[in-house]
Amino acid sequence: MTTGFPERFTGSFTQQDPIPEAGIAAALEVLRHGRLHRYNTLPGEISQTALLEQEFAALTGARYALAVASGGYALGCALRAVGVKPGDKVLTNAFTLAPVPGAIASLGAVPVFVEVTDSLTIDLDDLAAKLGEARVLMLSHMRGHLCDMDRLMQICDAAGVTVIEDCAHTMGAAWNGVPSGRHGAIGCYSTQTYKHANSGEGGFLVTDDAETAARAVMLSGSYMLYERHLAAPPPEVFERIKYDTPNVSGRMDNLRAAILRPQLQALPVQVRRWNERYKVIEEGLRAAPGLAIVERPAQESIVGSSIQMLLPGWDAPQVQEVLHRCAERGVELKWFGAPDPIAFTSRYDSWRYAPSEPLPQTDRILAGLIDMRLPLSFSLEDCALIARIIRAEVSAVFQQA
Ligand SMILES: *Cc1c(COP(=O)(O)O)cnc(C)c1O
Repeated sequence: MTTGFPERFTGSFTQQDPIPEAGIAAALEVLRHGRLHRYNTLPGEISQTALLEQEFAALTGARYALAVASGGYALGCALRAVGVKPGDKVLTNAFTLAPVPGAIASLGAVPVFVEVTDSLTIDLDDLAAKLGEARVLMLSHMRGHLCDMDRLMQICDAAGVTVIEDCAHTMGAAWNGVPSGRHGAIGCYSTQTYKHANSGEGGFLVTDDAETAARAVMLSGSYMLYERHLAAPPPEVFERIKYDTPNVSGRMDNLRAAILRPQLQALPVQVRRWNERYKVIEEGLRAAPGLAIVERPAQESIVGSSIQMLLPGWDAPQVQEVLHRCAERGVELKWFGAPDPIAFTSRYDSWRYAPSEPLPQTDRILAGLIDMRLPLSFSLEDCALIARIIRAEVSAVFQQA
């Protein structure tokens, strides 16, 4: 997709793959019978949602899985399921997206932000220093970057801090062979359109702990119909918690489940496709003057659905000039250093409902942090072209400076 000179990219940064035909067929079947609610089943019938949960548990290797209305809902549900109460502090990354502090604030709890490193992962030394302040860490694997999960779990376990993983950008990724979402007590995922499976809105929560799973199912709005789940603990576990767990409705429905099931089957193929695209851009940008890419550790199995670039030490006007020049050539970049929130990017200090101490290291890194989405609708040639454009425009601005 190139026209004229200088080369221009004319593709869309927001165009997804179509829903697989098998998903469309299954969705039509649900529409025809009309039983969209997950608990609206005929005698002996198993709902699409229950099947989806069973398949997601198998995919992640978790004992229990719950499908819910959104990734943000999964995060709030996880906090409730581990007993976070209003006024409690919850540790979280300073570099994340708004639904993460939003989930914490939705319970009346208070985020405590932890610094980010140049690898774009949580700073484990800053985390260690703050562990005494909270008993829960909501760890956001922001933009797909996994920290040293072995070390993180060691320090959190030693301090008795429960880890909830936000895997909105890491469905299909792993650290040291263990899937993202399976290191901590709970893993939360999103199936919103811009994530790794697309049901418009939707999410999952997985755990190995029976009581946590039962509480999450009740919280999600199961009423007393929890026996219709295939990836939930046995009824006796619900007996222990069912009178003390509020209903905070946020269920998945059968229409979304129907379109998600074939997408989960295809996830390994999609992950390979994302990573092929990521590699082309990564290679195209490596060693570009003025720009640094984030080298990924060997222990990390990534899903390259977006790529980040660092312009270390650049002034704001220069960064904006790069964004402007790339946009002129059809390449949409986002900047996490902008003082005001724009589209889906915002900084920890713009979440004013959650007062924060200044985080100088995070400020320095976000000031030069550029982000680009990699939709699967891009061809490998598109990716090579995009890398050439970014490289040329970064060099041009860098040389002027
Ligand atoms: C998208 C996203 C979420 C929330 O997912 P929704 O399904 O949109 O509610 C949570 N965390 C991160 C990092 C996200 O990007």
